[in-house]
Amino acid sequence: MKIAILGAGAMGSLYGGYLSRGNEVWMVDIWQAHVDAINEKGLYIDEADGSVTHVTPHATSDPNEVGVVDLAVIFVKSIQTTEALEKNRAVIGEHTAVLTLQNGYGNGDDICAFVPRDQVIVGTTSHGCTMKGPGHIFHAGSGPTHIGAMGEDQSTAEKVAEALRGAGFEVDCSDKVIELVWGKLFVNIAINAVTALLDVPNGYINDDANARRCAELLVREAVAVANATGMSFDPDAVCANAMAVAVGTAGNTSSMRADTLNKRRTEIGKINGAVVKKAAELGMDAPYNQLISALIEAKEDTYLK
Ligand code: NAD
Repeated sequence: MKIAILGAGAMGSLYGGYLSRGNEVWMVDIWQAHVDAINEKGLYIDEADGSVTHVTPHATSDPNEVGVVDLAVIFVKSIQTTEALEKNRAVIGEHTAVLTLQNGYGNGDDICAFVPRDQVIVGTTSHGCTMKGPGHIFHAGSGPTHIGAMGEDQSTAEKVAEALRGAGFEVDCSDKVIELVWGKLFVNIAINAVTALLDVPNGYINDDANARRCAELLVREAVAVANATGMSFDPDAVCANAMAVAVGTAGNTSSMRADTLNKRRTEIGKINGAVVKKAAELGMDAPYNQLISALIEAKEDTYLK
């Protein structure tokens, strides 16, 4: 399979790196030093058990060098999806499947503006990675990847699942994947914005009664919106799961806290902001998620303006 990874940062490097063992993989990224390092020395993946995986995918910042691919995997930050697809249209052909495992809600809808719905595959990943430097990542955590097509026809999603399994990923392919996308969103809603605003590690969400109250208000509101779309989540169970994740990752810095600490734009628009947007489409209000979205955007203004 010919594959382009659009956004070959921490997660793109992991998926593209593993997929390059048995497929023609092109890492497409605007970070030239990373592209050069991969082309010169290959990609080094430091595994959690201390071993090192070394792979040699192609890398470029010019999508025209790649040409049309069978599969494009989107791993830019979720707020950059549309821009990345616009700038890398050269890799998308009539039959190209596009996979997103990004965090947040609405990535699949963004991709549907570029390819037919049956070719859009959404999902979640339990892997975790960080960049160590150009051509070098740390693969901190592993777990299942869940995928499914946005449309009715799951045949392309099944082929993508096979390619991922062949590369060593544990993959489940199902037409219920959108529930899992919501499920992961709820965890991000509980943890990300609150830890970023308070500048605390994930465990604080469970340990401090006020932080926990904020997280639960946000999550319960998001569950009400999800359930209005036809889902049937139990808000108590969703809150309990989010707290369990906060406890399980107690010492970790959430990606949104990392973004604010590094003075980068966050994914708020695709996390809490996505709940506000979906609520508006349904004629509902989501004032807690609206307020926290505005607070994070105001925080971004302090360093991006
Ligand atoms: P990252 O910042 O490490 O990588 C994003 C890459 O996209 C960067 O290398 C950047 O240069 C590149 N990029 C930006 N615009 C581009 C463009 N127009 N064309 C090509 N490349 C472009 O981010 P990440 O941590 O790998 O996260 C990617 C997505 O995966 C996010 O949605 C994140 O929430 C999600 N995610 C991350 C983790 C994790 O552990 N890092 C885990 C699960 C999900």
